[in-house]
Amino acid sequence: MGFERFGTVSFTSTTKVDHFIELLDQGRVSGTRCKKCGKSFFPPRADCFSCFSAEMGWFEITGSGQLISYSTLIYAPTGFEQDLPFTIALVQFSNDLKLFGRLSREIEEEKTRIGMKLRATPIKLPNGRVSYEFREA
Ligand SMILES: [Zn+2]
Repeated sequence: MGFERFGTVSFTSTTKVDHFIELLDQGRVSGTRCKKCGKSFFPPRADCFSCFSAEMGWFEITGSGQLISYSTLIYAPTGFEQDLPFTIALVQFSNDLKLFGRLSREIEEEKTRIGMKLRATPIKLPNGRVSYEFREA
């Protein structure tokens, strides 16, 4: 069980951080943190690019972050056409942790604004696929 189940289209079937998918199944959006230098990563990484340590631990992304940038797509790469239009967003959770992902369709376009509070929420897609999206906190 790995990344072949992630998102609308997955370009990779397995990675060193496949546990991310199991955690999503359990309802947790998670990143990794370096046990040596403390740097946090999302998407999760198996190795730290800051100090080159491979000693990483998982942590759940809880609480809310602030929307710092977003864009609504009306064109999309192959495989994502059925999802259009959708809004991609960059959300800051802490000084060193930003998440990239989609805004929930539940958030109306006219209510979307920089600085709004969002939380990362696991979601189930058709055919047993999993992902996450940002919902209002
Ligand atoms: Zn490190």
